[in-house]
Amino acid sequence: MPPPPRLPSLAVLPLPNRGLGVIARTPIPRGTRIFSEHPLLALRHDQDASDVYAASRLLTQEQRAVLMGLSGNGAESSLEGVGGRERRAWRWLHVGPRLGTKTELMRLWKFPTVRRLKRHMAVLSIFRSNAFDLGNAATWQQAVFPTISRLNHACVPNAQGNFHEGTGKFNVHTIRDVQEGEEVTLNYLQEVGMVRNARREKLSKGYGFECGCPACDLGMERGRVGEKRRVEMQRTLGEYARGVGEGQPGGVGEKEKELRTFEAFIEMFEGEGIAGRELAAMYFESSRLHKALGNHDEALRCADKGLFIDEDCLGTDHAIYQTGRETVEALRSLAVSEGPLRAVAAG
Ligand SMILES: [Zn+2]
Repeated sequence: MPPPPRLPSLAVLPLPNRGLGVIARTPIPRGTRIFSEHPLLALRHDQDASDVYAASRLLTQEQRAVLMGLSGNGAESSLEGVGGRERRAWRWLHVGPRLGTKTELMRLWKFPTVRRLKRHMAVLSIFRSNAFDLGNAATWQQAVFPTISRLNHACVPNAQGNFHEGTGKFNVHTIRDVQEGEEVTLNYLQEVGMVRNARREKLSKGYGFECGCPACDLGMERGRVGEKRRVEMQRTLGEYARGVGEGQPGGVGEKEKELRTFEAFIEMFEGEGIAGRELAAMYFESSRLHKALGNHDEALRCADKGLFIDEDCLGTDHAIYQTGRETVEALRSLAVSEGPLRAVAAG
């Protein structure tokens, strides 16, 4: 069994058609740090999927039991991007020995026994189905966590995980108020603003499930409106990408165009209920552009908004939050130093 969640207000429970999930036993306000865990099994930037099994051999028996208690998507499609050795081994196990004799294959792929090969593939499958992409984390590229990996996916989730370099832990915060009895969810996909089909294909291939979250349900008004917004957003983004470089580089026109694209993103995110780091980043980008265009009040307003969102999703102990606070303070002192000039001009 996985270790108990850190807060008594959460429970890991079986859910209809969703395997296990994490449920709030009491209301949880937004901005609450609900999990903070070290990786159970992780890959460094210089490692790849073929190193997963070797890394798993370093776990204690207890850690290994927690790992093997997570569920894996055993489909071949989940091995996308994995080296040929593992893919051939998968086919040999599933398609059958007509691909070669056991002895030949064991010698060729350096698996001492079929039992070892099966264990290797089981660990790999669990890792591929449960690992989080840690993006820009300095040490790790991907990691599985003891309890956090139990959280299910939603395309518009109510929680978000961010890696804290200082503590080496992955912190999960609620990014909106969570009701009693509600499932706590994370977005497994890195890319934001993806349309329904693209999201579903990635989830089905990588994690082996058909997403049935409200954002994917086109039978409901909410799903349809959200999908329309995302399609529109992708179109705006495409137009922006095509338009880049047409104007004078770094010119006012280019900056205004960039600003409008970020504003469109913010509108879509907020309309969809997407919060967290990606929304905060859009506000900070808008702030940077407003500042460059000389709109210092707007620059401060956007940075303030970004910082407020970062406080909820990262916590005040995160380096990104602290950088954001410095940005806000610098903009505030700029506004103060400009104050008297403006008063003179107005007088
Ligand atoms: Zn979905």
